[in-house]
Amino acid sequence: MSYESDLALRLTPYTAGEQPRDRQFIKLNTNENPYPPSPRVAEAIAGLTDSLRLYPDMEATALREAIAEVSGLTPEQVFCGNGSDEVLAFSFAAFFAGRTVAAPDITYSFYPVYANLFGARYEPTPLREDFTVDVDGLMRGCPVAIANPNAPTGRFLPIPELRRLAAHCHDHGAVLLVDEAYAAFAPENALPLLREFDNLLIVRTFSKSHALAGMRVGYALGSPRLIDALRRVRDSFNSYPLDRLAQAAARAAILDVAYTDGCAARVIAARERCRERLEAAGIDVLPSATNFLFVRADGADASDAAQALREEGILVRHFASSARLRPWLRVTVGTEEDMETVTNALIRHICR
Ligand code: PMP
Repeated sequence: MSYESDLALRLTPYTAGEQPRDRQFIKLNTNENPYPPSPRVAEAIAGLTDSLRLYPDMEATALREAIAEVSGLTPEQVFCGNGSDEVLAFSFAAFFAGRTVAAPDITYSFYPVYANLFGARYEPTPLREDFTVDVDGLMRGCPVAIANPNAPTGRFLPIPELRRLAAHCHDHGAVLLVDEAYAAFAPENALPLLREFDNLLIVRTFSKSHALAGMRVGYALGSPRLIDALRRVRDSFNSYPLDRLAQAAARAAILDVAYTDGCAARVIAARERCRERLEAAGIDVLPSATNFLFVRADGADASDAAQALREEGILVRHFASSARLRPWLRVTVGTEEDMETVTNALIRHICR
């Protein structure tokens, strides 16, 4: 007998990127938005203090209505949670627990953690040589979890390919989960496929596109049947995942479409400029449909380059978890000024 349950003992927790508290860094390691949230967010949460005495709306009705409106869906097709991490966790519980779930071998590293937590068998499928997703490899007659654009590679799977995967899953009575954390920076998204597939669940976040990482708001879009399953899991865990401030802030943010699109356009322009400069310097960079770039350092391990950047006050992310990831750095796209600094530093450290 031990104090800890067998469940607690067999967990392998996720490791998040560093959040420095003392030193001021150019912080390009956790894919946050470099710009502040819409000014409408401050207006929306001012004056809510008195209402904090009361529990929030457990169904986040006003927020779901706003998300539905902006997405061309009904509120019954929308579920909200405490960050998309929570929505993903509920999704693994609702659709994959006790089953096999296929996913690319290189993707968001929280997926195997949730699979382990909820007793799902996780089937990693190798990405192709160029880090694109092998759709045929993922067709195994079981549910699939995929991030599109993928992380940490930034590569985008075209929607016709995603449609093939959704159809395969549908034929096998299985859910296809598409994590669109970075869709705001991509050319297209899976939203139109919701009209065709009742087994498709799209998960999104306010953390990147809406500059609300500190508020913790994520959501899922799917058929009412899938949304209902998420609600059942939520109500078996925490009926009030979203507090009043988060609901009001996220609603204001998503309705300010012009502001969000403007910030995304600046990020995309800074991303492309950085990519062109790195390529011109002979550095390998994957094409990106996200707010980060996957950059190859020299040699088999980029940890020295990450450390050198850190010493210059720039934080980027290095993944030591696999030999294939080790030569690469994931660099979040910051302001134009941040990108000028990090691009110069990367060229200095990588081109030796
Ligand atoms: N999905 C992917 C692919 C991500 O990179 C992240 C950010 N770490 C998340 C989901 C989680 O985002 P959040 O919990 O902040 O909504």
